[in-house]
This record gives sequence, structure tokens and C-alpha cells, in this order.
Amino acid sequence: MSPTQSQGKPECLDEIREKVLECCKCPLCKVRTKPVPGEGYGKVMFVGEAPGREEDLEGRPFVGRAGKLLRDKLKEIGFEDVYITNVVKCRPPNNRTPHKEEVEACKPYLEEEICCLKPELVVALGKTAAKALLGFEAPMKELRGKVRVVKVRDCTVRVLVTYHPAAILRKKSLLKEFVFDLKKAYSLVYKQGKLF
Ligand code: SF4
Repeated sequence: MSPTQSQGKPECLDEIREKVLECCKCPLCKVRTKPVPGEGYGKVMFVGEAPGREEDLEGRPFVGRAGKLLRDKLKEIGFEDVYITNVVKCRPPNNRTPHKEEVEACKPYLEEEICCLKPELVVALGKTAAKALLGFEAPMKELRGKVRVVKVRDCTVRVLVTYHPAAILRKKSLLKEFVFDLKKAYSLVYKQGKLF
């Protein structure tokens, strides 16, 4: 993170990071290499599902192939100040979908991150993030591209759902909608301003 990005960063983000680094609230702590706390600071929060192999080795979110795709697109569109995290902060074996109990154990960190950062927009990347943030499941074609207002503890946030970048790597035809959604996120935050 550059010094400019960290200007004004609330201390609570560092406190959450410290808690994640020491956490063993679910069985994933026994199989992870490194826990992966969120990183960055800014008006927009991107939330993925869980760390993959590269993230587990480096202890940083979205640093593998899917992460590169996301970070490249954010740069192309012009995002400068973002916070990136996952619903579950430790890698599930073989990148399986996190179990319900793992999500329940880890979700309080995501809630704390949201209430600490108070982002102007949260972008949920994929079904697991969408379910954790919206509280319900639906097909991605119904969820994506729409902005919903969600209550997280005492905080109110706007949530926009789009595909997980790993889904784009598997199915290139989704790239156009993914980029469309990211541009919508940019426009909501940088052109229309604060809602609350
Ligand atoms: S996945 Fe979350 S709850 Fe489980 S050990 Fe890692 S940080 Fe703790």
C-alpha cells in the first residue's frame, strides 16, 4: 500500500488484521499456510470468497491469477483507493467452497471490516460473498449488476454483486458483464458520491 492510500486509514483495520493473524476459531487454521487479512484502504470494498493457493502462501488477498485479473481491471477503470478482502480469511483445502460453519466463524471479521471502513460501496465477488452480505442465495444472473442497501450490524452499506474473477478465468464470455459491473461500481462511488 502506498503512503497516500494509507492516509486516514482507521486504526480499527489494523486491529482486525491482528485478530485475523492470530485466529484459530475454525478448523481452517490447522490447514492454512498463512491467514489472509484484508488489505488496502478506500471508499470501495471488494469481497471475495476465500484465499487460494498463492494467497495462502503469501498471506495477501487476490494475488493469484484471478487477483491479477481483478487488479488489472480496477487499474484500467481508474480505481485508486480500494480495500480487498474475503468472506473467509484462511484457504479451504483444494480451494473447496467454505463450509457454512467456517463462514459463520469468520463472518464477524467481515462485519467488523465493513463497520470500521464504512465504505461507500461493497462489491461482492461471486455467490459466497453475495450470500454472506445479502443473507440469501439466488442465481448469479439474478444477483449481478444490482445495488442493494444492506444493514451490517449498526452500519448501512450499498452492495453491488458481480462475478468472482475466478469465474471469468473459467468462462471468458462473462468478462464483458464483469467489466460492466466494475464500471458501474466506479460510477456509483466516484461520479454519484455518497448515499448516506
Ligand atoms: S477462516 Fe476465519 S475463523 Fe477460521 S481460522 Fe481463519 S480467520 Fe479464523
